[in-house]
Amino acid sequence: MRVLILGGTGEARELARIAAGERGFDIVSSLAGRVTHPRLPVGPVRIGGFGGVEGLRTWLRENAIDAVVDATHPFAAQVSAHAAAAAADLGLPALHLRRPEWARCPGDRWTRVPDTVAAAAALATHGERVLLTIGRQGVAAFADCAGHRFVIRSIDAPTGPLPPRYELLLARGPFTFDDELVLMSRHRIDVLVTKNSGGPQTEAKILAARTAGLPVVMIDRPPLPPGAQTVGEVTDALDWLRARARQRVP
Ligand code: NAP
Repeated sequence: MRVLILGGTGEARELARIAAGERGFDIVSSLAGRVTHPRLPVGPVRIGGFGGVEGLRTWLRENAIDAVVDATHPFAAQVSAHAAAAAADLGLPALHLRRPEWARCPGDRWTRVPDTVAAAAALATHGERVLLTIGRQGVAAFADCAGHRFVIRSIDAPTGPLPPRYELLLARGPFTFDDELVLMSRHRIDVLVTKNSGGPQTEAKILAARTAGLPVVMIDRPPLPPGAQTVGEVTDALDWLRARARQRVP
């Protein structure tokens, strides 16, 4: 069974690693090509956009793909929608692998917002020093926050407009709890801005903010495509793939 895994996440790499080692699967992973030195999954990888739903549909057909697993980041809404639409058009089974969200716990001081623009607006009621950990994309929404001083952490430098006062930290997780506490203390951070990405890789900042009593502006996830079949764990995605493979055996 030929499977396209839309990746760019640890879960996608884990899924590709295990499935590629199982008989009966021929796995191709796809990356957007956003970061300069991506962590590559095992097995064949293609890099770059497909050219919208139509381009993806053509690629799926030309590469004789039998099933699609969208294991992209929870905030990569466009490619998820494209995957759902292209697979539906071709009658291919499609699954969305989405790690569980971080849940608010006692001691958390979260302001939940729907997007980066609302996150920038929410800063008006918070302190001056902001730790911005939303990745490279979306930073432009904070460009008009002249009253705040930002520590922007991302893997590659953001492009586009930036807030007037910022310091850039280029770093790739995972980060430890101790490192996050030191970072917040050294920069005298007043508020953390983050997406609700979920997962253990970048969760230390949430735990550190809780321990330090810092408020968090938490950007909620965009919705998945309507009717999308979704699982939260790599093992569930593997079970789904195995079930699809069994269905194909006469
Ligand atoms: P997006 O807004 O949903 O996608 C924008 C366009 O990028 C898509 O329409 C598609 O182009 C292309 N694309 C995205 N993911 C692709 C993939 N895996 N393979 C081939 N093309 C892909 O996505 P995004 O938020 O820019 O994220 C880009 C990638 O970075 C994703 O693969 C995601 O897993 C990873 N990532 C994103 C975040 C985040 O916070 N958004 C964080 C960590 C990792 P075409 O329409 O031309 O096909």
